[in-house]
Amino acid sequence: MERLGIDIGGTFTKFYDGKKKWKVKTPRSLKELIELIKREGKGKRISLAVAGLIDQREKTVKQSPNLPFIEGARLEELIGREIVIVNDATAACYGEYRLGAARGSSTCVCLTLGTGLGGGAVIGGAPLMGATGCSMEVGHITVEPRGWRCHCGREGCLESYVSSYGLERLYLIEGDKCLPSYKVIELIKKREEKALIVFKKFTEYLALGVINLVHIFNPDTVVLCGGIVKEIPEISRLVEKEVKEKALKLPGSCVKVKRGELEEFSGAIGAYLLTEKVK
Ligand SMILES: [Zn+2]
Repeated sequence: MERLGIDIGGTFTKFYDGKKKWKVKTPRSLKELIELIKREGKGKRISLAVAGLIDQREKTVKQSPNLPFIEGARLEELIGREIVIVNDATAACYGEYRLGAARGSSTCVCLTLGTGLGGGAVIGGAPLMGATGCSMEVGHITVEPRGWRCHCGREGCLESYVSSYGLERLYLIEGDKCLPSYKVIELIKKREEKALIVFKKFTEYLALGVINLVHIFNPDTVVLCGGIVKEIPEISRLVEKEVKEKALKLPGSCVKVKRGELEEFSGAIGAYLLTEKVK
């Protein structure tokens, strides 16, 4: 049977069928989204990657800030057949493990930097799902007690510093100006003084998150994905340097921090590959 990986993002829904990649605007209602999945996935085995808290037992997305209409929907019933459903960053990590920057890794973790901060892990060739499918919510590990308010409602989450809105907030404090994240990235690339201070803080927080993961998982590879990593490639080298300096010596010395290779289709590619892996 033919297979199709579908990565449902807040703005675009991306597809990969083993040969072709394509994307369309994500529909704004559940009815339209289900119609799109049924149309594109006709006669194929489907796997969905979605940003949000997944409940594997019910095959539902419990919480998804960018796709509120999908929350709690009985997707298998609506689509009318068995599907695989995973968190988008877990799918991206599996894609990078099989076909990208983490090929050959025994233990890898992946961080996806975007509007939010996602995470995934592949250990011994298997994606880490957790008890319900909510493993690796790296964006919500606490890095500052009583720190900035995160979109999840908690305080001091890594995501409230290391994400597009974190970057904007860091610049607002340092540069006293409210700029969209792409403008801050432009200023970092132009080596503007305040933007460089912001970038240093951003990288330190990111490295702190990576060091925590290094101490838990002892990975051989950490993959960083997302627009900002693509725009500022030196970020992986800087994070690796911090990790080598500040993590425990043995786990710190054997880890490589790499940029993702599959770019915006990593989630769709991982989802496609997971159709063979997860029942
Ligand atoms: Zn949070």
